Amino acid sequence: MDLMEYQAKELFARHDVPVTLGRVVEDPADAAAAAEALGGRVVVKAQVKAGGRGKAGGVKLATTPQEATDRATDILGMEIKGLKVRRVLLAPAADIAEEYYFSFLVDRANRNYLCIASTEGGVEIEEVAHTNPDAIAKISIDPATGVDEAKAAEIVAAAGFPPEAASVVQKLWAVFIAEDASLVEVNPLVKLADGSLEALDGKVTLDENAAYRHPDHAAFDDKASADPLEAAAHEKGLNYVKLDGSVGIIGNGAGLVMSTLDVVAYAGEKHGGVKPANFLDIGGGASAEVMANGLSIILGDEQVRSVFVNVSSGLSACDAVSNGIVQALELLGEKANKPLVVRLDGNNVVEGRRILAEANHPLVTVVDTMDGAADRAAELAAAGVQA
Ligand code: GDP
Ligand code: MN
Repeated sequence: MDLMEYQAKELFARHDVPVTLGRVVEDPADAAAAAEALGGRVVVKAQVKAGGRGKAGGVKLATTPQEATDRATDILGMEIKGLKVRRVLLAPAADIAEEYYFSFLVDRANRNYLCIASTEGGVEIEEVAHTNPDAIAKISIDPATGVDEAKAAEIVAAAGFPPEAASVVQKLWAVFIAEDASLVEVNPLVKLADGSLEALDGKVTLDENAAYRHPDHAAFDDKASADPLEAAAHEKGLNYVKLDGSVGIIGNGAGLVMSTLDVVAYAGEKHGGVKPANFLDIGGGASAEVMANGLSIILGDEQVRSVFVNVSSGLSACDAVSNGIVQALELLGEKANKPLVVRLDGNNVVEGRRILAEANHPLVTVVDTMDGAADRAAELAAAGVQA
């Protein structure tokens, strides 16, 4: 689960990382009073789970409460990277002397933790990696020993931070470990004009597998800001991610679904650039209910014009999957209103195809190869877009 800046800062504050919490408002009418309470000069910051808000016009300075209202009016309702801004954070405007970049993350390739730090903060770290790679320090962290005083000093020296930053580094490590985060990023970590340090932005990803250890984290789960389809899928235990295209995708197994996305994107190029509409892995048990849940989520996406059901059967045999599809279409009734292209392979494939042929559902086309099915699904989506 990714946190918004104001939520990340709440976690930071619990571990004594220097932050200013500010106030969150959803209605521009509340901005002036919030700004007044914060001392008048504030920054108004869009709260969306995306970086680059500053560049997109989602971070603005206001010198008076009236201006805070005006900036909140500008920012609330705007879209940043496709995400609608429903909340703004107002925080006292900081007097910045220097901006640094800092993060802890899980380094899966090396089965380790990694710290990335740079005195070139405030801009996107990918940009620094491109223009000035030598300005980025990468320090691997042994999970067994973590970040003690000596390690924090090593990090600070490698990054070129002032020595006082070591205690902030240790507190951020406490956030990372104690909260079971897979990412803690502060960009910028700033040195203020008075020499003190402050986390002026925060990005935290919490490991949901550890949610049982953190009942308090549930409060961060922001249903309103999540995509409603993703929220519905999550409730049904489906692994669904909404994408931007028009070909709905259902598959069993994350690897298969990933490659299906590639194949559909490739096939889509020949059909005017249609793209996958989602990632949906229904896992091993492709029962009618799971299939119906998956299909209803996908058909609930207004952008979807066709659906590609790609099943490679191992444990659950193709005949069970085919029965699942047939029953799911019955369950959905009129809600099933987009063409389905089905490709089946693996265990009991002949029987699986026979069941679909016998059902002879007007929406269903069976194509035997993955490439062929992707092409047909892309073609149908392109035709649907024109209609
Ligand atoms: P991001 O663009 O989404 O990463 O949003 P940030 O919170 O990092 O803000 C972007 C930039 O706005 C920062 O790098 C700062 O340069 C600037 N900024 C943010 N808050 C303040 C503030 O309180 N005072 C000043 N002077 N600048 C700020
Ligand atoms: Mn930032």
